[in-house]
Amino acid sequence: MEIQYIKGVGAALAKKLQKLGLVDTKDVLAFFPTGWEDRRKIPPIAKLEIGKDQFTVGKIVQIRESTRGKYHLTKVLLDDGHNKIMALWFNQAYLMKLFKVGTRLFVSGKIERDPVSGTKIIKVSQHEWLEKDNTGRIIPIYPLTNGVYQKQLRHIVDLCLRQELKLLQEPFPPTILEAYTLLPLAKAIWYFHYPADENTYRQAKRRLVMEDFFYLQLVLAITRERNRSEDKGIAFTFKNTLSAKYFDSLPYKLTGAQSRVIAEVLEDMKCERPMNRLVQGDVGAGKTEIAMAAILMALENNYQAAIMAPTEILATQHYQKMLHYLMPLGIQVELLVGSLKAGTKARKQQLVSSGHADLVVGTHALIQEKVGYDHLGLVIIDEQHRFGVLQRRALTKKSGEVVDLLVLTATPIPRSLTLTLYGDLDKSILDELPPGRIPIKTVWIKKLDAFWMKAVRDEVAKGNQIYWVFPLVEESEKIDLRAATEGSQQIALMFPDVRVGLLHGKMKQREKDAVMAEFRARNLDILVATTVIEVGVDVPDATMMIIEHAERFGLSQLHQLRGRIGRRDKVSTCVLISTTRTDNSMRRLGAMVETTDGFKLAEVDLELRGPGDYFGSKQSGIPTMAVANLLKDERILLEAKKLAERIAADRKNPLYAGVFRRLHEQPHLYVGQEGMN
Ligand code: ADP
Ligand code: MG
Repeated sequence: MEIQYIKGVGAALAKKLQKLGLVDTKDVLAFFPTGWEDRRKIPPIAKLEIGKDQFTVGKIVQIRESTRGKYHLTKVLLDDGHNKIMALWFNQAYLMKLFKVGTRLFVSGKIERDPVSGTKIIKVSQHEWLEKDNTGRIIPIYPLTNGVYQKQLRHIVDLCLRQELKLLQEPFPPTILEAYTLLPLAKAIWYFHYPADENTYRQAKRRLVMEDFFYLQLVLAITRERNRSEDKGIAFTFKNTLSAKYFDSLPYKLTGAQSRVIAEVLEDMKCERPMNRLVQGDVGAGKTEIAMAAILMALENNYQAAIMAPTEILATQHYQKMLHYLMPLGIQVELLVGSLKAGTKARKQQLVSSGHADLVVGTHALIQEKVGYDHLGLVIIDEQHRFGVLQRRALTKKSGEVVDLLVLTATPIPRSLTLTLYGDLDKSILDELPPGRIPIKTVWIKKLDAFWMKAVRDEVAKGNQIYWVFPLVEESEKIDLRAATEGSQQIALMFPDVRVGLLHGKMKQREKDAVMAEFRARNLDILVATTVIEVGVDVPDATMMIIEHAERFGLSQLHQLRGRIGRRDKVSTCVLISTTRTDNSMRRLGAMVETTDGFKLAEVDLELRGPGDYFGSKQSGIPTMAVANLLKDERILLEAKKLAERIAADRKNPLYAGVFRRLHEQPHLYVGQEGMN
């Protein structure tokens, strides 16, 4: 039922409620308080403390008003039977008509001392008529929007909840509720709004956190089980024909961690069971070599391989590197990106589907368009955090056979998030940087002064290169683009002998490629860029990064950006420019100065932004958590995982029909995963 038909709502209010996500009465089932007020005991007037926000109840014994200049003051004297207090409202003259001597009023607000009389007064921020259900218990506080009042919203939510909870079916059978000591869902929702005490609150919350985690874990558990049992994949053999040649031609030796992870990957590929592996390694750890090892193994077995990157710049970089090393070995490498001309794209797709192309490097274009493969055996997804959880499935479905999947990510994420996002993958950790790397020095300055101007000149004089980054967000794209463009002109003027280039997302792909190639070839000293260079880009001689308006970047974004420098054994410097004063951005920039440890930064980031924003919830496919906190509720997450595994293993059991009914009410969780039960 639409909420506007609830008694006392109507069209105008319904429109405002829509801003809170409340359209249908059902929506209250996912609408939760953000705080509570404990009104179990009403403090007597005598106990109210000066300077605090408190509430009390009293009988109205006197009503007066006064005006001074533009101000109107409503003064109501309240009596709780023992003491009296003056309650004050500013500029709400209409209240005079509503108040009646003799009625009992609930007021909450700041307690102060009247400067003249010296008695206690309360500056009221909220008042309610005393009714039997708004005191004597714990009361929910909801997020508000313009023109909706707390007590009004409480009333509406209360009505809707009573209606919806009666209809709500319990998804879990009683045996599960008992085994996991879970409250029934309807009860948990009610208690979460109106907990009787701390204990019922805790139980209600536990059940709702479980609810948040469980269904995604169920999808992951079923997928994991399928990966293990039903599907037969390809059993590659390690021939070492191409691999030996490639790794011998590299100018460096693999790190211990690289060798270990490569061994884990190859072991998976030898197995008939399809590989589903996540490799996590901080920026610059050398994940590309892991991809290369897997690709070469697939190619040696005469299978095609595909690698997908989140940006065209990164895809192009991979393409060039692979072309450089693999063409001499007789491998046909193709680049497939969205910006190709229709004709070229069609021709390349033909090369792929006919089996002439051995290795395909690309962006989303790889999955979005109708690319058929001839004998695809391996799919690699680089910088996975930029893709959705479910997007990665789309690519592995491209081929008839069940292909091996390797996922690379630089975003070091807390374990709870790994479980949530990648719960269906095995995991390898690349926990060692190539030798000789010197930690990047990071400074935070307000303005580029003479000292730093000289530092820029010195760096260029040494033959090193510089990234100069400007923020760009969609909402203010035009202004941002202008800032970057003008910035590059100013920089060119400031450093007349220095070669300056500009790179941003709105340029034609050909222009982007040309600028990137010039920078790589060291024909440019400074590259002014927006965040298009954020992930994966690898130019070894870049040793300095200057970030304008650093406060406008998220922490993991800053970390990724900074990862573009310090990729060799040279001293590198990252300069954050910002005059920010907000707490949040000061903490972000402070953390950047303090550490280069991606794991620590990720935790700070998650804490500051909340998991929803952490990856951009739409992008990451993390369903919004209504109640759960990914950092704090890890224990319940582990329980949810266990329960999900138990139910996944026994999913034909009619006892669990309710569970799957509820899962199917949340289609965003299992899109593209046919036959979830
Ligand atoms: P990321 O993990 O960020 O994708 P890359 O694979 O781009 O890292 O590697 C970062 C840089 O380190 C590249 O310039 C690469 O050539 C270099 N590199 C990779 N492995 C090694 C190694 N074992 N020794 C020295 N340099 C390496
Ligand atoms: Mg990379």
